[in-house]
Amino acid sequence: MKLPLAVATLTLFACTAQAAELNLYSARHYQTDEALYSNFTKQTGIKINRIEGKEDELLERIRNEGANSPADIFITVDAARLAKAHELGLFAPVASPKLESRIPSHLRTEDWFSFSTRARVIVYNKATIKAEDVQNYADLANPKLKGKLCSRSGSHPYNLSLMSSVIAHLGEAKAEEWARGMVANFTRAPKGGDTDQIKAVAAGECGVAVSNTYYVARLLRSTKPEELKAMEKVGIAWPNQKTSGTHINVSGGGMLKTAPNKAAAIQFLEYLASDEAQAYFADGNNEWPVVSSARVANPALDALGKFKADPLPVKNLAMYQAKAQIIYDRAGYK
Ligand code: FE
Repeated sequence: MKLPLAVATLTLFACTAQAAELNLYSARHYQTDEALYSNFTKQTGIKINRIEGKEDELLERIRNEGANSPADIFITVDAARLAKAHELGLFAPVASPKLESRIPSHLRTEDWFSFSTRARVIVYNKATIKAEDVQNYADLANPKLKGKLCSRSGSHPYNLSLMSSVIAHLGEAKAEEWARGMVANFTRAPKGGDTDQIKAVAAGECGVAVSNTYYVARLLRSTKPEELKAMEKVGIAWPNQKTSGTHINVSGGGMLKTAPNKAAAIQFLEYLASDEAQAYFADGNNEWPVVSSARVANPALDALGKFKADPLPVKNLAMYQAKAQIIYDRAGYK
Protein backbone atom coordinates (compact mmCIF):
# COMPACT_ATOMS: atom_id res chain seq x y z
CA MET A 1 0.00 0.00 0.00
CA LYS A 2 1.16 3.45 -0.87
CA LEU A 3 1.12 5.90 2.01
CA PRO A 4 -0.54 9.24 1.42
CA LEU A 5 2.07 11.98 1.21
CA ALA A 6 1.08 13.57 4.52
CA VAL A 7 1.49 10.28 6.39
CA ALA A 8 4.78 9.57 4.64
CA THR A 9 6.06 12.98 5.62
CA LEU A 10 4.92 12.47 9.19
CA THR A 11 6.66 9.09 9.37
CA LEU A 12 9.82 10.63 7.99
CA PHE A 13 9.59 13.47 10.51
CA ALA A 14 9.08 11.00 13.36
CA CYS A 15 12.20 9.10 12.28
CA THR A 16 14.41 12.18 12.08
CA ALA A 17 12.99 13.45 15.37
CA GLN A 18 14.50 10.40 17.06
CA ALA A 19 17.97 11.68 16.28
CA ALA A 20 19.07 13.97 19.07
CA GLU A 21 17.76 17.43 18.37
CA LEU A 22 17.04 20.58 20.25
CA ASN A 23 14.56 23.28 19.31
CA LEU A 24 15.80 26.63 20.47
CA TYR A 25 13.56 29.69 20.49
CA SER A 26 15.97 32.55 20.73
CA ALA A 27 15.77 36.31 20.83
CA ARG A 28 19.56 36.40 20.41
CA HIS A 29 21.23 36.95 17.07
CA TYR A 30 24.84 37.83 17.56
CA GLN A 31 28.04 37.17 15.65
CA THR A 32 29.37 34.66 18.14
CA ASP A 33 26.19 32.58 18.16
CA GLU A 34 27.27 30.35 15.27
CA ALA A 35 30.30 29.18 17.23
CA LEU A 36 28.21 28.94 20.41
CA TYR A 37 25.78 26.50 18.80
CA SER A 38 28.13 24.57 16.54
CA ASN A 39 30.37 23.77 19.53
CA PHE A 40 27.42 22.29 21.36
CA THR A 41 26.59 20.09 18.38
CA LYS A 42 30.24 19.11 18.07
CA GLN A 43 30.43 18.14 21.75
CA THR A 44 27.12 16.32 22.02
CA GLY A 45 25.99 15.34 18.53
CA ILE A 46 22.72 17.17 19.25
CA LYS A 47 21.51 19.21 16.32
CA ILE A 48 20.10 22.66 17.12
CA ASN A 49 17.07 23.97 15.24
CA ARG A 50 16.89 27.67 15.80
CA ILE A 51 13.76 29.78 15.69
CA GLU A 52 14.73 33.43 16.03
CA GLY A 53 12.48 36.36 16.66
CA LYS A 54 11.76 39.33 18.83
CA GLU A 55 11.45 38.61 22.56
CA ASP A 56 7.74 39.27 22.95
CA GLU A 57 6.83 37.61 19.64
CA LEU A 58 8.58 34.38 20.62
CA LEU A 59 6.85 34.36 23.96
CA GLU A 60 3.51 34.85 22.22
CA ARG A 61 4.32 32.08 19.76
CA ILE A 62 5.13 29.60 22.53
CA ARG A 63 1.84 30.47 24.25
CA ASN A 64 -0.10 29.99 21.04
CA GLU A 65 1.56 26.67 20.25
CA GLY A 66 0.55 25.46 23.69
CA ALA A 67 1.03 21.78 24.50
CA ASN A 68 2.14 21.08 20.91
CA SER A 69 4.98 23.57 20.96
CA PRO A 70 8.21 22.08 19.60
CA ALA A 71 10.17 24.59 21.72
CA ASP A 72 12.66 23.05 24.13
CA ILE A 73 14.48 26.17 25.26
CA PHE A 74 13.52 29.84 25.36
CA ILE A 75 16.34 32.36 25.49
CA THR A 76 15.72 36.06 25.89
CA VAL A 77 16.98 39.27 27.45
CA ASP A 78 15.79 41.03 30.58
CA ALA A 79 14.64 39.57 33.88
CA ALA A 80 11.19 41.06 33.23
CA ARG A 81 10.64 38.92 30.13
CA LEU A 82 12.04 35.79 31.73
CA ALA A 83 9.79 36.41 34.70
CA LYS A 84 6.83 36.78 32.35
CA ALA A 85 7.55 33.37 30.84
CA HIS A 86 7.69 31.99 34.38
CA GLU A 87 4.42 33.63 35.38
CA LEU A 88 2.72 32.23 32.29
CA GLY A 89 3.80 28.82 33.53
CA LEU A 90 5.88 28.13 30.42
CA PHE A 91 9.10 27.02 32.12
CA ALA A 92 9.76 23.65 33.75
CA PRO A 93 11.78 23.48 36.97
CA VAL A 94 15.32 22.27 36.34
CA ALA A 95 17.34 20.69 39.12
CA SER A 96 20.93 20.62 37.95
CA PRO A 97 23.87 20.50 40.36
CA LYS A 98 26.04 21.82 37.52
CA LEU A 99 23.91 24.94 37.01
CA GLU A 100 23.61 25.42 40.76
CA SER A 101 27.34 25.26 41.34
CA ARG A 102 28.33 27.45 38.39
CA ILE A 103 25.69 30.20 38.38
CA PRO A 104 25.60 32.39 41.51
CA SER A 105 22.34 31.91 43.40
CA HIS A 106 21.14 35.50 42.92
CA LEU A 107 21.34 35.04 39.15
CA ARG A 108 19.09 32.01 38.87
CA THR A 109 15.62 30.84 39.84
CA GLU A 110 14.19 27.33 40.04
CA ASP A 111 13.17 27.40 36.38
CA TRP A 112 15.19 30.03 34.54
CA PHE A 113 18.86 30.90 34.57
CA SER A 114 20.95 33.97 33.75
CA PHE A 115 23.87 33.40 31.40
CA SER A 116 25.20 36.95 31.11
CA THR A 117 24.82 40.28 32.85
CA ARG A 118 24.58 43.89 31.70
CA ALA A 119 24.64 46.96 33.92
CA ARG A 120 22.47 50.08 33.72
CA VAL A 121 24.87 53.00 33.94
CA ILE A 122 24.61 56.78 33.91
CA VAL A 123 26.01 58.52 30.82
CA TYR A 124 26.62 62.26 30.98
CA ASN A 125 27.99 65.06 28.89
CA LYS A 126 31.41 65.85 30.34
CA ALA A 127 31.23 69.50 29.26
CA THR A 128 27.92 70.32 30.94
CA ILE A 129 27.61 67.90 33.87
CA LYS A 130 29.96 67.37 36.80
CA ALA A 131 30.79 63.73 37.46
CA GLU A 132 30.14 64.17 41.18
CA ASP A 133 26.53 65.18 40.46
CA VAL A 134 25.65 61.88 38.78
CA GLN A 135 27.06 59.16 41.02
CA ASN A 136 23.72 57.68 42.10
CA TYR A 137 20.40 56.82 40.48
CA ALA A 138 18.87 59.17 43.09
CA ASP A 139 20.87 62.06 41.58
CA LEU A 140 18.77 61.80 38.40
CA ALA A 141 15.87 63.25 40.41
CA ASN A 142 17.92 66.10 41.89
CA PRO A 143 16.53 69.55 40.84
CA LYS A 144 20.16 70.39 39.96
CA LEU A 145 19.59 68.41 36.75
CA LYS A 146 16.40 70.27 35.76
CA GLY A 147 15.94 70.15 31.98
CA LYS A 148 18.97 67.88 31.57
CA LEU A 149 17.62 64.31 31.76
CA CYS A 150 16.74 62.27 28.68
CA SER A 151 15.17 58.82 28.83
CA ARG A 152 13.61 56.03 26.86
CA SER A 153 10.07 55.04 27.78
CA GLY A 154 9.21 54.12 31.35
CA SER A 155 7.30 51.14 29.96
CA HIS A 156 10.42 49.57 28.50
CA PRO A 157 11.54 46.42 30.39
CA TYR A 158 15.00 47.93 31.08
CA ASN A 159 13.48 50.88 32.93
CA LEU A 160 10.86 48.69 34.60
CA SER A 161 13.59 46.43 35.96
CA LEU A 162 15.60 49.42 37.19
CA MET A 163 12.49 50.76 38.94
CA SER A 164 11.85 47.29 40.41
CA SER A 165 15.29 47.35 41.99
CA VAL A 166 14.62 50.80 43.46
CA ILE A 167 11.30 49.59 44.91
CA ALA A 168 13.07 46.53 46.36
CA HIS A 169 15.71 48.71 48.04
CA LEU A 170 13.79 51.83 49.07
CA GLY A 171 10.10 50.97 49.03
CA GLU A 172 7.26 52.27 46.87
CA ALA A 173 6.92 55.76 48.33
CA LYS A 174 10.57 56.67 47.80
CA ALA A 175 10.53 55.04 44.37
CA GLU A 176 7.60 57.22 43.32
CA GLU A 177 9.30 60.34 44.65
CA TRP A 178 12.31 59.39 42.53
CA ALA A 179 10.17 58.92 39.41
CA ARG A 180 8.49 62.31 39.92
CA GLY A 181 11.86 63.99 40.37
CA MET A 182 13.11 62.49 37.11
CA VAL A 183 10.00 63.56 35.22
CA ALA A 184 10.55 67.11 36.52
CA ASN A 185 14.09 66.96 35.09
CA PHE A 186 13.19 65.74 31.60
CA THR A 187 14.61 67.63 28.63
CA ARG A 188 11.94 66.11 26.40
CA ALA A 189 9.26 63.45 26.51
CA PRO A 190 10.81 59.93 26.62
CA LYS A 191 11.61 58.55 23.16
CA GLY A 192 14.09 56.29 21.37
CA GLY A 193 16.34 53.54 22.69
CA ASP A 194 19.44 53.62 24.89
CA THR A 195 21.75 54.39 21.94
CA ASP A 196 19.61 57.41 21.05
CA GLN A 197 20.00 58.72 24.61
CA ILE A 198 23.80 58.30 24.51
CA LYS A 199 23.97 60.13 21.17
CA ALA A 200 21.73 62.94 22.46
CA VAL A 201 24.02 63.25 25.49
CA ALA A 202 27.09 63.35 23.23
CA ALA A 203 25.45 66.01 21.05
CA GLY A 204 24.70 68.11 24.13
CA GLU A 205 20.96 67.91 23.57
CA CYS A 206 20.68 66.25 26.98
CA GLY A 207 23.06 66.36 29.91
CA VAL A 208 22.45 62.92 31.33
CA ALA A 209 20.71 59.59 30.63
CA VAL A 210 20.90 55.93 31.61
CA SER A 211 21.95 53.12 29.30
CA ASN A 212 22.74 49.46 29.34
CA THR A 213 26.47 48.89 29.21
CA TYR A 214 26.50 46.92 25.95
CA TYR A 215 25.18 49.94 24.03
CA VAL A 216 28.04 51.98 25.49
CA ALA A 217 30.52 49.20 24.67
CA ARG A 218 29.14 48.91 21.12
CA LEU A 219 29.70 52.64 20.49
CA LEU A 220 33.17 52.46 22.06
CA ARG A 221 33.98 49.62 19.64
CA SER A 222 32.39 51.40 16.66
CA THR A 223 34.10 51.45 13.28
CA LYS A 224 32.43 54.79 12.50
CA PRO A 225 34.80 57.68 13.30
CA GLU A 226 31.88 60.03 14.10
CA GLU A 227 30.61 57.63 16.78
CA LEU A 228 34.05 57.30 18.35
CA LYS A 229 34.32 61.08 18.34
CA ALA A 230 30.91 61.42 19.96
CA MET A 231 31.94 59.00 22.71
CA GLU A 232 34.85 61.29 23.65
CA LYS A 233 32.24 63.74 24.95
CA VAL A 234 30.50 61.14 27.11
CA GLY A 235 31.37 60.28 30.70
CA ILE A 236 30.20 57.02 32.24
CA ALA A 237 29.32 56.69 35.92
CA TRP A 238 28.70 53.47 37.84
CA PRO A 239 25.73 54.41 40.00
CA ASN A 240 25.33 53.57 43.69
CA GLN A 241 28.88 52.36 44.28
CA LYS A 242 28.71 53.48 47.92
CA THR A 243 25.29 51.99 48.52
CA SER A 244 23.37 49.17 46.80
CA GLY A 245 25.69 48.79 43.78
CA THR A 246 24.89 49.34 40.11
CA HIS A 247 21.68 47.74 38.87
CA ILE A 248 22.32 44.77 36.64
CA ASN A 249 19.99 42.92 34.35
CA VAL A 250 20.51 39.61 32.56
CA SER A 251 20.17 37.52 29.45
CA GLY A 252 19.01 34.04 30.19
CA GLY A 253 16.71 31.20 29.46
CA GLY A 254 15.00 28.09 30.61
CA MET A 255 13.52 24.78 29.54
CA LEU A 256 9.89 24.79 28.53
CA LYS A 257 7.36 22.63 30.33
CA THR A 258 6.23 21.18 27.00
CA ALA A 259 9.79 20.54 25.73
CA PRO A 260 9.82 17.37 23.62
CA ASN A 261 13.59 16.96 24.12
CA LYS A 262 14.04 17.48 27.85
CA ALA A 263 17.36 15.66 28.27
CA ALA A 264 18.92 17.62 25.41
CA ALA A 265 17.47 20.83 26.82
CA ILE A 266 19.10 20.35 30.22
CA GLN A 267 22.34 19.40 28.53
CA PHE A 268 22.15 22.64 26.55
CA LEU A 269 21.50 24.81 29.63
CA GLU A 270 24.48 23.17 31.34
CA TYR A 271 26.58 23.76 28.24
CA LEU A 272 25.69 27.49 28.34
CA ALA A 273 27.23 27.61 31.81
CA SER A 274 30.54 26.10 30.62
CA ASP A 275 33.57 28.40 30.48
CA GLU A 276 33.76 28.14 26.72
CA ALA A 277 30.08 28.86 26.03
CA GLN A 278 30.05 31.63 28.61
CA ALA A 279 32.74 33.50 26.70
CA TYR A 280 30.75 33.29 23.44
CA PHE A 281 27.45 34.06 25.09
CA ALA A 282 28.66 37.16 26.91
CA ASP A 283 30.98 38.48 24.25
CA GLY A 284 28.37 38.31 21.49
CA ASN A 285 26.60 41.29 23.01
CA ASN A 286 29.42 42.86 25.05
CA GLU A 287 28.08 41.44 28.30
CA TRP A 288 29.71 39.83 31.32
CA PRO A 289 29.65 36.07 31.96
CA VAL A 290 27.80 34.90 35.07
CA VAL A 291 30.34 32.15 35.75
CA SER A 292 33.33 33.62 37.55
CA SER A 293 35.91 31.29 35.98
CA ALA A 294 34.86 32.25 32.43
CA ARG A 295 37.15 34.74 30.77
CA VAL A 296 36.19 37.26 28.11
CA ALA A 297 38.82 39.26 26.25
CA ASN A 298 36.76 42.27 25.24
CA PRO A 299 38.59 45.62 25.10
CA ALA A 300 35.35 47.64 25.23
CA LEU A 301 34.31 45.89 28.45
CA ASP A 302 37.81 46.26 29.87
CA ALA A 303 37.64 49.99 29.07
CA LEU A 304 34.48 50.27 31.18
CA GLY A 305 36.43 48.99 34.19
CA LYS A 306 35.33 47.17 37.33
CA PHE A 307 32.32 48.02 39.46
CA LYS A 308 30.22 46.89 42.38
CA ALA A 309 27.07 45.23 41.08
CA ASP A 310 23.79 45.18 42.97
CA PRO A 311 23.45 41.61 44.34
CA LEU A 312 19.63 41.80 44.37
CA PRO A 313 18.29 38.39 43.26
CA VAL A 314 16.88 38.43 39.71
CA LYS A 315 13.73 36.93 41.19
CA ASN A 316 13.15 40.17 43.09
CA LEU A 317 13.52 42.23 39.92
CA ALA A 318 10.66 40.24 38.52
CA MET A 319 8.57 40.68 41.65
CA TYR A 320 7.94 44.42 41.27
CA GLN A 321 7.42 44.79 37.51
CA ALA A 322 3.72 45.60 37.77
CA LYS A 323 4.28 48.05 40.62
CA ALA A 324 7.09 49.69 38.65
CA GLN A 325 4.71 50.37 35.76
CA ILE A 326 2.07 51.80 38.11
CA ILE A 327 4.61 54.12 39.68
CA TYR A 328 5.90 55.36 36.32
CA ASP A 329 2.31 55.95 35.19
CA ARG A 330 1.41 57.86 38.34
CA ALA A 331 4.51 60.00 37.99
CA GLY A 332 3.76 60.78 34.34
CA TYR A 333 6.90 58.95 33.18
CA LYS A 334 5.53 57.87 29.80
FE1 FE B 1 18.94 45.99 24.44
